Amino acid sequence: MKQSNNREKTIGILGGGQLGKMTALAALNWDVNLQFLDISPDFPAGKVCPNFVRGDFHNETDVYFFGKRVDILTIEIESVNTSALHHLEKEGKVIHPRPAALDIIKDKGLQKQFYRENGIPTSDFFLVQNKEELREPSFPFVQKARQGGYDGKGVAIIRQQEDLDTKWMDTPSVIENLVDIDKELAVIVARNEQGETAVYPTVEMIFSQEANLVEYLLSPARIDDDIEQRAQALAIETINAFDICGLLAVEMFLTPSGELLVNEVAPRPHNSGHHTIDAAVTSQYEQFIRAISGLPLGDTALTHPAVMLNLLGEPGHTGPVHYQGLEECLAISGVKVHIYGKEITKPYRKMGHVTVIDTDRERLFEKARFVKNTLKVVSSHI
Ligand code: ADP
Repeated sequence: MKQSNNREKTIGILGGGQLGKMTALAALNWDVNLQFLDISPDFPAGKVCPNFVRGDFHNETDVYFFGKRVDILTIEIESVNTSALHHLEKEGKVIHPRPAALDIIKDKGLQKQFYRENGIPTSDFFLVQNKEELREPSFPFVQKARQGGYDGKGVAIIRQQEDLDTKWMDTPSVIENLVDIDKELAVIVARNEQGETAVYPTVEMIFSQEANLVEYLLSPARIDDDIEQRAQALAIETINAFDICGLLAVEMFLTPSGELLVNEVAPRPHNSGHHTIDAAVTSQYEQFIRAISGLPLGDTALTHPAVMLNLLGEPGHTGPVHYQGLEECLAISGVKVHIYGKEITKPYRKMGHVTVIDTDRERLFEKARFVKNTLKVVSSHI
C-alpha cells in the first residue's frame, strides 16, 4: 500500500513575491510540492520554484482553476480574489486562512469591527463612506482607507480642519483615535488544524525620525516580561478568534500606560518575521508550511538577538538593480543578506533585507547602522 503523509500534499500559493520565495526555500528543504500563481515566473518565487503557473490572483477564474490543481491552497498576499476561494471551499478544498476570515482582514473596517465584537483591544473608531459623514470631527484623528492600503499608503493623520482639504482620501474609511504610542510591536503566531499554537518573541519596530519609515526591527523587543507575556497572549487570542490555520502577524501599539492595542493583522508570513530565518530555531516560513500542512509546530525560540532592516530602492533610482557596498557588509560576522531577485529597482521598493545577529545589543545596532549606511540599492542606469 502506498504510504503518504502531509508533506506529500501539493501546496498552492497565491502570489509569487519575496514572501513566496522564502516560503519556497523552506519548503524545498523538505522537498514539498509547491506551486505558485502569479503573472510572471520572473517574480522572486519563480526563481526558486519551477511549478509557477502564470495567472492573476485577482481574477476569479485563474484562482479557481489554480485551486483545483492543488491539495492545500494558501496566500502570500491578502488582495486575492476571495469569491473563487469561497467556491473552492464549498467544493471541499482545504484553504488557509479560511476565506471568510480573509474577507474580514482585507477590509480594515470589518477588521476593526471584528476586534470590537470579539473583545480584542483596539483603538476607538467609527466608519464613514465619505467626508460628509464626518459631520463635526474632533481633531486629531487617523483616517484609514478600508481597502487596498499597505506600508502606510492609505493612512492619513488629520490634525486640523485644513488637513481635511489637503490630506483626506476620498474613499470609504475607518476613522480612528490617534493613539499615543510608546512602541509599535508585532507578534507572529502560528496555528495548525489541531488548534495548537506557537508564538514567536515580540518584535519592536524602530522608526527613522526623518522618513517616518520603519528603520529597524528588533527582537527580542525592549519591553518588560509582563508586556512580552501579554503581547504573546494577545496574539494567540487573536488567531483563535479568527479561527485560522497558518500564520498571523499581529501588529500592536503599546501605550505609555502599558496598554496593548491591536492595530492590524496579516494572515501570512510577514516582514516582522524575516529575522527568524537566521535567528530562530524555526523560521516563520518553515512554520507556515508546518501550520498549513497539519504538521507539528516548530520551536519558536530565538537563537540570537536580531535586528532586521529592509533593503529599499534608493530614492531617485529606477532601473536595473545594483547592490552597492555588498562586499563590505558580507565581510562582517553575523550580517546575513537576503536579496529577493527583483530585476528592477524603484524608489522604496522592497528589494531584500538584512538580518544582523549578535549576542551584544550595542554591537547589534553598530553593525545594523553600518549596513544601513553602506549597502545601497541603486540602479546601474542613471
Ligand atoms: P499599513 O497597513 O499601511 O501599514 P497601519 O495601520 O499599520 O497601515 O498604519 C501605518 C502607521 O500609521 C502605523 O505603523 C502607525 O505608526 C501609524 N498609525 C496607524 N494607526 C494609528 C493610530 N490609530 N494612532 C496613531 N498612529 C497610528
